[in-house]
Amino acid sequence: MRTIPHWIDGAEYIGDPSGESPVVDPGTGREVANLLLASPADLDRAVAAARRAQGAWARTPLSVRTSIMFTMRELVLAHQDEMARMIVQEHGKNYSDAIGEIQRGRETLDFATAINVALKGEHSVDISTGVDIFSLRQPVGVVAGICPFNFPAMVPMWMHPLAIATGNAVIVKPASATPSAALLTARLYKEAGLPDGVFNVVSGDRELVGGILEHPGIDAISFVGSTPVARIVQEVGTSHGKRVQALGGANNHAIVMPDADLGFAAQHISAAAFGAAGERCMALPVVVAVGGIGPDLARRIRAHAQTIRVGYGMDEGVDMGPVIDAASKKRIIGLIDDAEARGADIVLDGRGLVVEGHEEGFFLGPTIVDGVALDAPIYSEEVFGPVLAIVHADTYDEAIGIVNSSPFGNGAAIFTNDGGTGRRFALDVEAGMVGVNVPIPTPVAYYSFGGWKDSLLGDTHIHGPEGVRFYTRAKAVTTRWPSERTYAATMSFQREE
Ligand code: NAD
Repeated sequence: MRTIPHWIDGAEYIGDPSGESPVVDPGTGREVANLLLASPADLDRAVAAARRAQGAWARTPLSVRTSIMFTMRELVLAHQDEMARMIVQEHGKNYSDAIGEIQRGRETLDFATAINVALKGEHSVDISTGVDIFSLRQPVGVVAGICPFNFPAMVPMWMHPLAIATGNAVIVKPASATPSAALLTARLYKEAGLPDGVFNVVSGDRELVGGILEHPGIDAISFVGSTPVARIVQEVGTSHGKRVQALGGANNHAIVMPDADLGFAAQHISAAAFGAAGERCMALPVVVAVGGIGPDLARRIRAHAQTIRVGYGMDEGVDMGPVIDAASKKRIIGLIDDAEARGADIVLDGRGLVVEGHEEGFFLGPTIVDGVALDAPIYSEEVFGPVLAIVHADTYDEAIGIVNSSPFGNGAAIFTNDGGTGRRFALDVEAGMVGVNVPIPTPVAYYSFGGWKDSLLGDTHIHGPEGVRFYTRAKAVTTRWPSERTYAATMSFQREE
């Protein structure tokens, strides 16, 4: 059985593990590796390496830093097949989806190759006689990135390229179910010429996260995961003096107006609800059908969902893989059972799906539940599975009321052919990322990504301009260079007064 180590100070590191965690292929149900869990001493070692490396890295010329980022971008491209295969084996998503997440992550590396532009400051001359002022941004120091299982390459890439390019050292804590992409990233950074200690990976469970949150050698934390853990990270991290951004869970809604192109909407809703088995924070688990279009819309979505081929992620023609583990599958089936018992209509039922040759995999088929009550857990909880709930509203006002009553506010979309309605929705909706006829409105890397309400604890969104701000501190420098000329100018100014 393969053992997955940590990566500290430019090399694999075994150290003194506090335990091991099995890494399981969700498509077969079989264990594929043992992940070493870091002890407090291992974390201390990673922090010490990062602190040693950070000062010199922050003073490394921007031209060198951007050049390393450019090489890293090329290396990720060259190794994307290897990385995608790791993701399929540990996460279960299909190969093209794994390639897609690496591409989206690589966009942040693209942005980091131009960090010299993003870091340009301001300069004013003669704010007083012979006095100038300029502003600059300097790195915060050592940054920890705590990551969820569902995007093993992309979410860490939302963090480390900008943190590193702005002059910080980084410690990534991958999810225990999907650690290998982070280790490959570490090897690629080394090959790209990044100095040892600037990028480190430590794996572990909640005890390790607790250690990170309290560690005096860590200055800032980027967290992406579920809301209950985001809340812990935000509260404990900030109470230990750290800068924290904590992106939480989601329950994204799309309103479908009666004037929408229902064929277009149904096709895109099906892809958004069931892609990656619904295990995306920007997945679309809820549709609000307005003005009596519900039955027609449900039939059309079902027609698309029935064409989705569920199977092992590396197999040809597979659109959707398994969910992450047996517990997740059981929880999702329980939510569908409960909705059915409450009287909802199961328009498409994926509960009994078995994939031939992969009977032990954690597969579920696409499931559509119509007429869901707003107090049913399948509506109010984050399902994080291939399930679409349809609720009904008579008017736009009722529909936006439903969307905005969700405690989450990650993404939200509307399908309409009326520009005025689309514009009004974009302004009315309480969510950080909004789509008009775009069901998964994930911003490109040169914009920032983040939600509102329980989908984001902390102030700043991740990557893009807000990411640069998060990983840097502002400084304003006021300068005067006394000389005979400036002295004389000051005196004559005072005489005139
Ligand atoms: P999770 O919250 O269970 O785990 C995230 C990280 O926190 C992992 O590294 C895990 O080891 C650690 N962790 C788990 N429980 C902990 C605890 N009690 N104390 C301290 N640390 C703990 O999330 P997950 O199941 O890995 O990922 C799915 C969740 O992430 C979903 O809720 C999804 O919406 C969310 N997510 C959000 C975004 C976003 O951008 N908002 C993006 C991706 C995923």
